[in-house]
Amino acid sequence: MSVADLLAPFPRVNLTHAPTPFEFMPNLTRHLGGPDIWVKRDDCTGLAMGGNKSRQLEFYFGDAKAQGCDTVLITGAVQSNFLRMTAAAASKLGMACEIQHEDRVKGQDALYHASGNVLLDKMFGAVIHTYPEGEDEAGADNALEQRADELRQEGRTPYVIHLGADHPPLGALGYIDAAEEVVAQAKAEGVNLNAIVVPSGSAATHSGTLAGLRLHGSALPVLGVCVRREVPAQGPRVKTRTQGVHDMLGSGHAVPDTDIALTDAVLAPGYGLFGDEVKEALTLAARMEGLLADPVYSGKTLAGLIHKIRNGTFTKGQSVCFMHTGGTPALFGYSDGLVDGD
Ligand SMILES: *Cc1c(COP(=O)(O)O)cnc(C)c1O
Repeated sequence: MSVADLLAPFPRVNLTHAPTPFEFMPNLTRHLGGPDIWVKRDDCTGLAMGGNKSRQLEFYFGDAKAQGCDTVLITGAVQSNFLRMTAAAASKLGMACEIQHEDRVKGQDALYHASGNVLLDKMFGAVIHTYPEGEDEAGADNALEQRADELRQEGRTPYVIHLGADHPPLGALGYIDAAEEVVAQAKAEGVNLNAIVVPSGSAATHSGTLAGLRLHGSALPVLGVCVRREVPAQGPRVKTRTQGVHDMLGSGHAVPDTDIALTDAVLAPGYGLFGDEVKEALTLAARMEGLLADPVYSGKTLAGLIHKIRNGTFTKGQSVCFMHTGGTPALFGYSDGLVDGD
């Protein structure tokens, strides 16, 4: 069966400007003196300032529409790009949206709670709930389920987007196409990629990209940069999620341990916070390539790639692809501390 045939049973809506560009970064490449660095511009997916979630939401909203739902619910961090893009997709598709802000990142300032993605959540008219505990995934999910029950009692038909490991990785299906795009674009440019570097959070992007490459016959290594959990917790998660993608599709593929590659070298000081390496990566991308990344995900991913260039994992003569997953609205929620001397 073709990959398109495997994907065909899953209802989908169109939310993404694809294929997104695949571009060379000559100045950053020269500055670092290592491999040729290409960027897959998934910050340019089109919906509501872009990012990886538009590809993932195509399948969640496809499922919600197929089930006749009228209201979509999702929980995440206050500066979540997923919440912002869910709210935007709901507006575009004529559905109501309720989002839950989890207080995951402590000690943030007023801008964090009002600007960036939070401002956009309000622009899209989402109903906003708050959940005070940061690292209680089960509790946050339960609170959202309770809200869904209330909506049912009011005669509405809610759809809850679940990102936890105990639900099928529906959103990861969006990255099957992205993997195919990268393979085709690299071939068209005559580039022989040695690795693609992706953020690894819920692992939808990581698992979808990895599964997609293998389904399209590519053995390209995928390096995940941990943005939320350290390697010992993230490794099993990525493997389970990637296997889950193959099982959902019925591809019959067994994921080998050797396909799971991760680094948590730039994760500290933790989820939603950034250290000097991330700040340097954001500054280099901006000043050498006119490219914006965000401090939580894409900047951290680029910092992970730079770390791997400096420690000699990737070398001159090779080519690597940085998967830019967007997140740039969060810059305005994190503006304090991003730029020296202002
Ligand atoms: C959500 C998000 C990620 C993490 O992707 P997962 O698929 O959850 O691992 C990376 N980058 C950005 C900008 C995001 O919003």
